[in-house]
This record gives sequence, C-alpha cells and structure tokens, in this order.
Amino acid sequence: MDYSKFLNEKVQGIKPSGIRKFFDIANEMDHVISLSIGEPDFTTPWHVRQEGIESLRRGHTWYSPNRGFMELRSQISNYFARRFNVEYNPETEIVVTVGGSEALDLCLRTLIDTGDEVLIPQPSFVCYEPMTVMAGGKPVIIETKAENEFRLTAEEVEKHITPKTKLLILPFPNNPTGAVMRRTHLEEIAKVVEKHNILVLSDEIYAELTYGKERHVSFADIKGMKERTIVVNGFSKSYAMTGWRLGYALGPEEIISQMLKLHQYAIMSAPTTAQYAAIEALKHGDSDIERMRSEYDIRRRLIVDELCRMGLTCFEPEGAFYVFPSIQISGMTSEEFCEKLIFAQHVAIVPGTAFGECGEGFARVSYSYSLKHIKEALERIERFVNEQK
Ligand code: PMP
Repeated sequence: MDYSKFLNEKVQGIKPSGIRKFFDIANEMDHVISLSIGEPDFTTPWHVRQEGIESLRRGHTWYSPNRGFMELRSQISNYFARRFNVEYNPETEIVVTVGGSEALDLCLRTLIDTGDEVLIPQPSFVCYEPMTVMAGGKPVIIETKAENEFRLTAEEVEKHITPKTKLLILPFPNNPTGAVMRRTHLEEIAKVVEKHNILVLSDEIYAELTYGKERHVSFADIKGMKERTIVVNGFSKSYAMTGWRLGYALGPEEIISQMLKLHQYAIMSAPTTAQYAAIEALKHGDSDIERMRSEYDIRRRLIVDELCRMGLTCFEPEGAFYVFPSIQISGMTSEEFCEKLIFAQHVAIVPGTAFGECGEGFARVSYSYSLKHIKEALERIERFVNEQK
C-alpha cells in the first residue's frame, strides 16, 4: 500500500538523524569500539537511584502534577539560583518535562507560527531544525566557524535577522563542538536580541560540564535577558540520568503557562519515579557532578592531545563531552572518513555533517567512555590515519 498520501508531508521531508546511521553500522559489526554516543558512561549515582526505588517501594506510582512535583520545582529553583545566579518562581516559571527534548519541542511549538524564522547556529544538536520545521517555522542556519572556536558572534546573528525572525536558539555548551560562550560574548548577543526584539531559547543541558576557568553563564543571567529567554536544562548529562527522561524549561510565566497546555495534552506529566530521584540529585548531588566532571576533564585532555598529535587538529573544547577534530588532512569528506574508519579499524565516530552541512571536514568524537576504551580507540584511529598517508 502506498502510505505517502496519508503521511504528513513535513514528517516525510525530515531526514533521519545522521548519528543513528553510525550506531546502526556499529551494532551490526563485531569488535567495534565506539566513540559516537552522546550520553554519560556513568551509572546514575546510587543515592539517586535509591530514592527512585524507595518511591516505588512506597507505592508512588501515580501521575504527578502537570507542572511536576512542587518539591522538585522548588529544588530546581534553588539549584538554578545557587549554581547560575538566576531566580525562578517554582509556582509559575518552571515546567518539568520528559527530558530536555520535550522542553525544546514545547518551546518551539508554543512560540512559532507558520513562516516565523528561527535562527539556528550550526554545527549543533540534531533536533532543532526538524522541530522548527514541525512547528511550522523556517530554520535559518548560522554557521559557526573553527577560527572562532565555534562560538556564535553577535555580527553573525545580526546578519541573519529579518522582520520574520522570532527566536534565536543558543546551543551552548555545544554538542558537537564543545564550544562555550563567555559572559562578554553573551552580552554582545544580548544587545542584538534587544535591538531586534526577539526571544532566545537557550539549551543549557551541558551547563555543568565546563572545564575552563569560567563556569557556565546562563543567558538568563545577562542583564535584561531573563524576560526574553526560555532556558532548557535537565538531568541527563549532569547527573548521568539519560534513561530517566527528565528535564525542564524555565521562563516567563506567560510563556511557561502556554507551554504547559501542550504538555498537559501531549504528555500529562513527567515520569513520577524519575522526579523523586531528581529531587535527591538536586539536594545531594553536587559532589557527583564534580566527580564526573573531573573524570571527563582527564579524558578530554588526553583525547585532544592525541588527536592533535596525529594531525586531526582540534581547538580545545571547554564544554560538554565532545571533541570536534578536523579530518581535512585525510582528503576525504566527513562521511567517507567515518565510514572507512569503521570498516577498516572498527571505530565509530560521527561525521560533522550529521550536525549541519557546515560540519563538513570535521567529526564528533565523544569522550563519555572509560580511559581504557578511549586509549584503544585512539590507537586504532592513529593506525587508520597512518595507513591513509
Ligand atoms: N540538548 C542537547 C544539546 C543534547 O545533546 C541533548 C541530548 N543529546 C538534549 C538536548 C536532550 O537531552 P534529554 O532529552 O536527554 O534531556
């Protein structure tokens, strides 16, 4: 049967994620060593898991309130004020979602009308573009550049603004490049945002994973920006809780209350067990964050040094858990490089083009793996690079 006339045109037009393709190849081969995954290799800290288990033991198996448990929202509010200096009212300015992913989707569907333009810096996480399209918006891509260490500049933002621009997505710390934005960079962008009267969706899911001297600065902490920003964050990366599927959005009451309607009808409420665990994570998890962050940092240094030594040069990424080396010395496209690497040496990494066309010439290497695993993968990558000479 021909289903194409039944299927939504926009959905049919969406390309499957370029990350998946390499997972799928890797899954079908023996002895593949992967540096392709974007999730922590750590298990959720035991005391956090215990709270989830305990909530089940007590029989807490019901829906939670639409916005999420009040206690969790209060803890999120304390956490955000404590770590990032911005205060949100737990009654009205927070909605707990199914991962940061749902929060991104809710935000785009709440703000975007047909034809509105959404500024999307790339390379960046794969979901912004298709979600914008599904919300009826027009993605306008801004290429970030290796020579700027993949930061977004205010000039580039301004160049892409038209009367139809409604929203800028700020994806920092960045997946896949590891780029971070400093306060001064954000202040420059804030001027443009204010001048052109647009809003910002700031995806700060990697906020806890920064390695430079300066901690992550939330865009909502820039003067005048709290009222123009929806911050998305979650538990997946900072607390190694990807499978619990819990995130949240923070923003002005007028926007959060509209997002809540979509959340009510599509989802009802975020997972109950996960919320009990997340309360514990926020109350007592700061040292877990620090422990995992230091471990990532050791791996990051090793991988950057080694890749640069092999000629796969990369700038030093200061956030998330990815390195984004140039593969240009190979003379291959990103896809060719990654495909040949997986077949020749059984190492899976992701072509830069999975994160936007401007990722051509680069590849994403994840360091959310053990040092032993990373060392083995690096040896194989070096063998591959030498064979190509
Ligand atoms: N934003 C970015 C930049 C991500 O990399 C991811 C996950 N890879 C997410 C959002 C979504 O994470 P989750 O839904 O698990 O919170």
